Amino acid sequence: ATHEETLGFQTEVKQLLHLMIHSLYSNREIFLREMISNGADACDKLRYAALDNDALYEGDSELRIEIEHDHDAGTVTIRDNGIGMNRDDVIANLGTIAKSGTAEFLKQLSGEQQKDAKLIGQFGVGFYSGFIVADEITVRTRRAGDEAGRGVEWRSKGEGEFSVADIEREVHGTEIVLHLKEDAREFADDFRLKSLVRKYSDHIEVPVRMPRVEKARDEDGNEIEGSETTTWETVNEATALWVRPKSELTDEEYKAFYKHVAHDFSDPLTWSHNKVEGKLEYTSLLYVPSRAPFDLYERDGARGVKLYVQRVFIMDDAEQFLPLYLRFIKGVLDTRDLSLNVSRELLQQDPKVEKIKSALTKRALDMLQKLTKDPEAYQTFWNTFGSVLKEGPAEDFANRDKIAGLLRFATTHTDTATQDQSLADYVGRMKEGQEKIYYIVADGFNAAKSSPHLEIFRKKGIEVLLLSDRIDEWLMSHLTEFDGKAFVDVAKGELDLGEIEGEEEKKAQEETAKAKQDLVKRVKAALGAEVQEVKVTHRLTDSPACVVLPEHEMGFQMRRIMEAAGQ
Ligand code: ADP
Ligand code: MG
Repeated sequence: ATHEETLGFQTEVKQLLHLMIHSLYSNREIFLREMISNGADACDKLRYAALDNDALYEGDSELRIEIEHDHDAGTVTIRDNGIGMNRDDVIANLGTIAKSGTAEFLKQLSGEQQKDAKLIGQFGVGFYSGFIVADEITVRTRRAGDEAGRGVEWRSKGEGEFSVADIEREVHGTEIVLHLKEDAREFADDFRLKSLVRKYSDHIEVPVRMPRVEKARDEDGNEIEGSETTTWETVNEATALWVRPKSELTDEEYKAFYKHVAHDFSDPLTWSHNKVEGKLEYTSLLYVPSRAPFDLYERDGARGVKLYVQRVFIMDDAEQFLPLYLRFIKGVLDTRDLSLNVSRELLQQDPKVEKIKSALTKRALDMLQKLTKDPEAYQTFWNTFGSVLKEGPAEDFANRDKIAGLLRFATTHTDTATQDQSLADYVGRMKEGQEKIYYIVADGFNAAKSSPHLEIFRKKGIEVLLLSDRIDEWLMSHLTEFDGKAFVDVAKGELDLGEIEGEEEKKAQEETAKAKQDLVKRVKAALGAEVQEVKVTHRLTDSPACVVLPEHEMGFQMRRIMEAAGQ
């Protein structure tokens, strides 16, 4: 080895390694899933790159992953003939965490949270999970198409630094040798490895092979020394999961596949698998995760589906096929309607993309609608992604009604901060004569709940939606009605309770207004230019006065957002 240098891991990597080793101990077998997942990704990338340049296969186009072990040495080796890495790739990929926002996220974790395996899983535990079972890892790799002399060897004990050196490497692709810790030597075992491959990697299209060593036998049935022959046996199913018929697939297989495509550690909440033939031809498999990725609100956070064209991997995070408000959906789209050499730029111009997008959007919304039948799971979804879905009515006019049906709110009916009431629930409880859906927007749940604007509603037993998410005013400015009933902000404009109030009540109010004319004049004079108008109201039952915005005025929240944006 030449040109050897020792480099330090990026601080985030060190933190992550530390957290991972301690929090994932009881799940440590997942290291194999991660290594195979990376090998499969590398094969996908080579197949894609070779579409333009067959020579990249270097005469070996039978993509595969091989797993070997050495019981005596205590090693497990995972090898692929995929795209491989050059020196710069190795330093970038196996020395840093490229995802933006990682450092801040890690800093925010409390001591308790750091022990939570699922939180660590938000990063996709990835390559570094090897250090849960290994006290040293050696990676030998060469980028497909490079000369043999441009191989790279990476070594690390996972403690803070790693070394890289140039090596000769005849074959392209990557070989990872895990030197198992004393207490993890159980993994250097044929049976154990095979069952893990089946458990975690059946759904991967690339064959995962393991060697079977056989010795010839003499006439008496005894093994002949020195007659070993090795045959490679494919251990996994090796068909892309989404290609297989639904009836053949188990929940466990769907879940395992999710972890591979989403680089997630937790199980998904639900999924939807569809084959479509006709004008458009595609297969989609969409998942709803159970956890938010840490970069859900980052501008450049990963989003979109994994795109395949006729089973050939094209790109990760193809974001053109789902609207932004469904950016939490993960999954695969495999289509015949696009050409193999499609690029991100071409995707933006292709009218078929728009058609597939609208079909996938419907699928995703239907999948969420189905999930509502499982209230507990839906609540988990809503708590995790509800405020993203609330962007929907503004972004997707055509599906406004469907999205409205999926929204959940806190209301005066339950008076708790949990957003678990649907608009249909609300409508079902409407008072006789009530024609509108009432809501209030405030800075926090408690401010909403104790607003004086609610006094009359509480007195009359009329339910009001209590909105306090940052996005809520934006949402309500794009939702005008549900089930034929208009939305009314109880803090704005004239309060018209319509048919709920009897004629007598209305008359009494008018009389009060007349009787208090003088008071109104004096208050108006005292407040001067501070207010537009002073009126007698029947909004209040206990409080003497409150501030009301004109009907078409921007709300408090929006004003603050505009101010923050310097407007
Ligand atoms: P992820 O797979 O989510 O990107 P990992 O930690 O698993 O994260 O891997 C980090 C990166 O290292 C990968 O994105 C890839 O670029 C590179 N890598 C890991 N394993 C391999 C491999 N077997 N072949 C080629 N590149 C690999
Ligand atoms: Mg990975």
